[in-house]
Amino acid sequence: MAVRAAIWAFFGVLLTAAGWAADRSMAAPGESFPVATAFRLGGDESDTRFVMDLSRKIELHAFTLADPYRVVLDIPQVTFALPPKAGEQGRGLIKAFRFGLMMPGGSRMVFDLSKPVRIEKAFVMAAADGAPARLVLELTPTDRESFLRRIALDEKAMHVELPPRHEPKADTGDSRPLVVLDPGHGGIDTGTESPGGVMEKNIVLAFAKRLRDRLEKSGKYRVVMTRTDDTFVPLGERVRIARDAGAALFMSIHADSMPHHEGDAQGATVYTLSEKASDPEAAKVAEEENRADVIAGVDLKTEPDDVAGILIDLAQRETKTFSVQFAHDLVGELKTATRLHQDPIKSAGFRVLRAPDVPSVLVELGYVSNQDDLKSLTSDSWRDRTADAVAKAIDVYFATHVAGRRAGPN
Ligand SMILES: [Zn+2]
Repeated sequence: MAVRAAIWAFFGVLLTAAGWAADRSMAAPGESFPVATAFRLGGDESDTRFVMDLSRKIELHAFTLADPYRVVLDIPQVTFALPPKAGEQGRGLIKAFRFGLMMPGGSRMVFDLSKPVRIEKAFVMAAADGAPARLVLELTPTDRESFLRRIALDEKAMHVELPPRHEPKADTGDSRPLVVLDPGHGGIDTGTESPGGVMEKNIVLAFAKRLRDRLEKSGKYRVVMTRTDDTFVPLGERVRIARDAGAALFMSIHADSMPHHEGDAQGATVYTLSEKASDPEAAKVAEEENRADVIAGVDLKTEPDDVAGILIDLAQRETKTFSVQFAHDLVGELKTATRLHQDPIKSAGFRVLRAPDVPSVLVELGYVSNQDDLKSLTSDSWRDRTADAVAKAIDVYFATHVAGRRAGPN
């Protein structure tokens, strides 16, 4: 808990220092954040240098993560106006890099490394002599042992407690079932992307909001979302939100992609948790989705084991039965509204489905790599129709499988 909190500690300090409340409305678009306008990668495997031009000087905190080797830069919220495809190609010790919002008020850059490195320099130079402010990161190679020792020292220094990001819901006396909707990805983690640049994180957020409105309008459910804006939420945190809220059902919402050389898959798929994947393709989808934390620069070894290490044991068997029943209800209704994958019910080891006491499914709404699917995924009428179908499936599930069981699946 403490180490996980440390991930957010730097942002907490920044927010306080800048006099911003943690209130999300304070970070509304249009506020004048510093702008990153250009970057340069130079050097080779013995000395790699990354320089980024900024509209003004900012604070910076740099640290490293192992397995895979990464350098993370935490900075105040920055508007990234870098060229398209920036970061896809690396140089020297940097294989690739990503950047984006980590939370309101805080951005992050994550550099994937080809080997362990030492951070020689990490600072921001003020504008001078007509040159803009510049962020400078300089890396040299080191051995694994030194790299890990450095991380251990940093962790000691970063051991700061922050209040939990999500307060457990107070008991309101409202006995309606609580449904948790989990739009995948967010912020620095964009998810899959269509050839034209439509991002999964935006597609699934728009869908989840529509579904939330639809469920709330019915008056039958309480709804909690794991995110309502473009910020990053670690996978373990998503599970924790569902458990802390006492969710009766958890639904993670995603959109898939298939590289063109592998074919042109289409349609929606519903996944449940299993230790052994139902087929190799399902295993690959889970592997991709489980990378979210790595992409965002979260240290996996600090994620608590209560989420990461849960086995499908007796305690989970009932939850699993409910999850599978809901998956079938969902596919039954989805087929009236949208195209399904040829094999629409699968299972694999998704980290986000590991709550032992909350029936959970993950739906891939379609493929952003498929033209017809993409047209649907970005269309208002498809969104309405499909949200209606999911809401109907939730009705069917609670009426058929949960009704009559006094306490439901919890
Ligand atoms: Zn996804």
